[in-house]
Amino acid sequence: MAKIIVAGGGHGGIAVAGLLAEKGLDVTVYEQRRREDMGYDWTDIFEYSGLLAADMDMPPEDLFCYKGDVTFYGPSERNPFIQRSPKNQPEIKMERKDIYNYIIDYAEKRGAKFEYGVKIEKAECLGNRVVGIKTDKGSFYGDLIIDACGVNSPVRKSLPHFCGIQKELKQYEKLYVYRAFYNRINKDVPATEFKLTLFPNGLHGLGWVMAGEQYADTLLGKFEPFEKDEIKKYTDYLREKNPCVGKKKVRAGSFAEIPIRQTIAVMVADGYAAIGDSAFMTIPIYGSGIANALRASKILAETVLKDEDCAYSCETLWDYEYNYYKKVGSSLAPLATMKNLLIDLTPEQIDNLFDYDLEQVRGKIKRLNGLTDKRKVKAMIENVLILKNIVSDKALKQDISVAVKKIAKLSVLMKQMPKVYSQNEVLIWAQKYNKLFKYEK
Ligand SMILES: Cc1cc2nc3c(=O)[nH]c(=O)nc-3n(C[C@H](O)[C@H](O)[C@H](O)COP(=O)(O)OP(=O)(O)OC[C@H]3O[C@@H](n4cnc5c(N)ncnc54)[C@H](O)[C@@H]3O)c2cc1C
Repeated sequence: MAKIIVAGGGHGGIAVAGLLAEKGLDVTVYEQRRREDMGYDWTDIFEYSGLLAADMDMPPEDLFCYKGDVTFYGPSERNPFIQRSPKNQPEIKMERKDIYNYIIDYAEKRGAKFEYGVKIEKAECLGNRVVGIKTDKGSFYGDLIIDACGVNSPVRKSLPHFCGIQKELKQYEKLYVYRAFYNRINKDVPATEFKLTLFPNGLHGLGWVMAGEQYADTLLGKFEPFEKDEIKKYTDYLREKNPCVGKKKVRAGSFAEIPIRQTIAVMVADGYAAIGDSAFMTIPIYGSGIANALRASKILAETVLKDEDCAYSCETLWDYEYNYYKKVGSSLAPLATMKNLLIDLTPEQIDNLFDYDLEQVRGKIKRLNGLTDKRKVKAMIENVLILKNIVSDKALKQDISVAVKKIAKLSVLMKQMPKVYSQNEVLIWAQKYNKLFKYEK
């Protein structure tokens, strides 16, 4: 029986552990936290279709609510844009701990085993092959190592260079975030309000306030690590603009990092496959990654089960990467190009964008929620083209043109992705792909 190691209890890793164990494979998840510490002390919004894709049911109704409207603001907050929740809202909001309880329960019932309190240090390799993990409790070996250790995975970072897998993220490829829930004051603000501000008060990133019944949920996100005193400065600013945010911190209050870039160019090696944040599967602009990690779990499980010889080599695992890109990754990649465009905008340029008469774009943005990923990206590209025509700022027009050209090149390159694994062809393709996201300023 093939022995599968899931390194880290990321969402996709747990889901694939269940799917493989159900088919009789010997699967163990090694996780650094204790069982009771799994999941953060906050809520998440994600497309429930991710759960269904991983052969799970809709969670019980008392565990989630549907996502409401989101209001976007520029730095000055003078001309907001409301994204209304569609009739059949595909996104739900759930406590992170409930998500974990739900998916772990599935995996355990399907036969996956869990070892908690095991800190993974690095990959164990033999020649060209990843054969295990070195941990603080000794080394563990398996036929396939599934890396679900998240954005800073020590397994991915320790892979030999010849695997062609990117180990470190570059500047502007991850968002440093601080999330905290404060006591809820001023009940005049509706409990459903979700307000997201780009570059608030000069912060090179974003801030949000979700006014819940009991708490005001705040998030600060920045392209560089936070410096001492910045949290207080920006939270005071959010408080000034959002009278529902009290002074008492009641939940969370933690730092984390989110990949906001294109999916990794190569996610498999001999004996190795990355899933979830360790393969940068988040949506590039806003960092949601739960649904994609779950979608990837089913694709990976299908690929592994198809490999009857249990070779789990680059050649047999490549189907996982190819199919993930076809179904999800390729339609998200253009958003990474657009994120690179956003990074360079000044607060004034962002405010100006909100000032334009964006009615044409707004109508289309409203429709985005109901579209599939591929149609969503097409609609987004159309929006960018409209934007290019209506902005008067010459430098911005030029930057938008460059982004549109890159997106066009990207769609050609996606069609050229090797269908069958050959190291040479894959590395050449990966090089061209990464080049399109190179930050050039
Ligand atoms: C503040 C914040 C808000 C977010 N909000 C949303 C949202 O609303 N919707 C959404 O879809 N996504 C959201 N995300 C992103 C989301 O968390 C990830 O995309 C998603 O969890 C997929 O990542 P993952 O499960 O692969 O990895 P992770 O969630 O990072 O899980 C990795 C696991 O591996 C374990 N691990 C790490 N290192 C080791 C080690 N050395 N040894 C053993 N175990 C290890 C960790 O303890 C953890 O359990 C948010 C992220 C942050 C930080």
